[in-house]
Amino acid sequence: MYKILLSTITTALLLTTANAKDDHGHDAHKHGDHTKKAAVHWGYGKDAGPLKWGDLKSEYFMCKEGKNQSPINITSAYEVEKKPLKINHKAGGEEVIFNGHAVQVNYKAGSSIDVDGHVFELKQFHFHNPSENTIDGKSFPMEAHFVHADKDGNLAVLGLMFVEGEANAELAKLIEVLPKKAGEKNKLKTVADSNGLLPKEKDYYRFTGSLTTPPCSEGVIWAVFKKPVSASKEQLEAIASVLGHANNRPTQPINARIIGEID
Ligand SMILES: [Zn+2]
Repeated sequence: MYKILLSTITTALLLTTANAKDDHGHDAHKHGDHTKKAAVHWGYGKDAGPLKWGDLKSEYFMCKEGKNQSPINITSAYEVEKKPLKINHKAGGEEVIFNGHAVQVNYKAGSSIDVDGHVFELKQFHFHNPSENTIDGKSFPMEAHFVHADKDGNLAVLGLMFVEGEANAELAKLIEVLPKKAGEKNKLKTVADSNGLLPKEKDYYRFTGSLTTPPCSEGVIWAVFKKPVSASKEQLEAIASVLGHANNRPTQPINARIIGEID
């Protein structure tokens, strides 16, 4: 019995290692001693993808137990009396990194948003292809997440949808130095300014949610712009091709949440 169990565990370990390689295209052996513990690499494939995240590691339990998870299909929004977002962003995107899960632009300090009097600083923005949130069931070819944190680490994320159309000058700045492999980090030749990406009309949907990647922590303030912005087919393909496969978690149940609509 013991032997059978052991061989089952060994097989599971081997499978986990193989899956990690499939999901990220790099060798799990480099990341630690897999004979001591299974390499727990989450990804978007069948074996270590969104439906399995909650079982990969105990720290990821919210991915399967959470009741306020992201992304969601934004629908049945209520008009609510809330102040418009105060966006105090400056140019500050200095480097672009491919972290193995998404293309991300790291932002220097000094840009923030004010949500009902609470200030969150912009840390980075990154991309999902296709979009994670959907609006009235509609998916978009790409969604950017502008991740902000307050001094205690609480998060507020702005979601921005992209449609295929005219080329986007701000995206061009990071596409010209786009990383090719996981861990690669390149300095932008021209500092990116998130204001160049955000829509002119800043109507948004507001709700609470979670990180859309493990550990799927909740308590995240979400604001998704109603108006999409455009990027060319080539630009959308350039960003999507870094990862080579979709990186959108499926939409999650809304449960008891109320979606606010702020014009
Ligand atoms: Zn994201």
